[in-house]
Amino acid sequence: MNRIPVAILGATGTVGQRFVQLLADHPWFEVKALAASDRSIGKPYAEACHWLLPSPMPTAVRDLLVQPIAPGIEARLVFSALPSEIAQTAEPAFAQAGYVVCSNTSVHRLDADVPLLIPEVNAEHTALIETQRRQRGWSGWIVTSANCTTTQLALALKPLHDTFGLRRVFVVSMQAISGAGYPGVPSFDIVDNLIPFINGEEEKVEQESRKLLGVCRQNRIEDASFVVSAQCNRVPVREGHTECLALEFERRATPQQVIDALESFRPSAQVAALPSTPAQPIIVRREPDRPQPILDRDTGNGMAVVVGRVRPCPLFDVRLVLLGHNTIRGAAGGAIHNAELLVAQGWLRP
Ligand code: NAP
Repeated sequence: MNRIPVAILGATGTVGQRFVQLLADHPWFEVKALAASDRSIGKPYAEACHWLLPSPMPTAVRDLLVQPIAPGIEARLVFSALPSEIAQTAEPAFAQAGYVVCSNTSVHRLDADVPLLIPEVNAEHTALIETQRRQRGWSGWIVTSANCTTTQLALALKPLHDTFGLRRVFVVSMQAISGAGYPGVPSFDIVDNLIPFINGEEEKVEQESRKLLGVCRQNRIEDASFVVSAQCNRVPVREGHTECLALEFERRATPQQVIDALESFRPSAQVAALPSTPAQPIIVRREPDRPQPILDRDTGNGMAVVVGRVRPCPLFDVRLVLLGHNTIRGAAGGAIHNAELLVAQGWLRP
């Protein structure tokens, strides 16, 4: 298969670097261009980027000159890891110019004609692409991946909603500092501390999870009707968001039935065959002290969600803890997974 030429917008940032790392040996995509701010334009990537990942920067990108964020760059598909205020106009400009945009940013996630995707959860929501192109007169289009906290939440909720029907979800998050970008939260604020506020995060979790688990009818999404209450905290962990959940169902479920539903969940054959789909998307641990960020975040190459402590809840039906890798499943890995889905469904051809 000829690899599809791709570009990364915001390539020097926390998420941009993950894209570079995860795309280095991708079987379907080849990185042809990297773009970032005025600070970086014209510099070789190795000079412009303060590389933060433990594996070395891939050789193929070291000498690529960083380009401006503007259509014209050599690519058919662009991965966007831009700040929201730049993405607001840049992503539509690329879609209008015929590029396929797989975005990590929040600005277009809730637009009625923009798919918000997790391949194992709602692959059929790509049906919105036709409506989007027709309504906006674009030759390209935008698809989005969810907020990093929402992605792993929605993935774990999917089999539970399908099996028992969700009524109420109460979630408290403990989110890694990499979720705030680089340099992100000052060390003086986060060492020996936690911050019980992340601007806009709770609204994103509450709204996006209902769109993700909504039903696509006549090319529009009817949001799921369950209620989500989220409280989001920044904690001194580098990578991996942990979430404590209490769940109320339409049909009563025991902890063992919840474990069975989570462990038996498998995506469609088409999604299971995508290069980034983990063998088992949801792993349930039995130890009383798991999941933990440093032990569990790389499960399934950072694409699996790890659940533990599934037990009865005196307020709702069942409570549990879950963990996901925020810059892989919750950001770059999730957007690459969406692009793979577009190829598998025939929207994007090699
Ligand atoms: P980041 O580390 O601050 O990186 C921002 C990137 O955008 C850098 O490449 C930067 O380039 C570029 N940029 C900044 N200002 C720009 C401008 N005026 N014009 C063009 N490019 C500009 O941020 P991040 O954490 O990677 O987040 C990127 C996006 O992904 C955000 O929208 C964020 O909400 C979303 N997201 C992040 C996570 C996460 O876990 N971090 C998860 C999901 C979604 P220079 O280096 O040249 O300044």
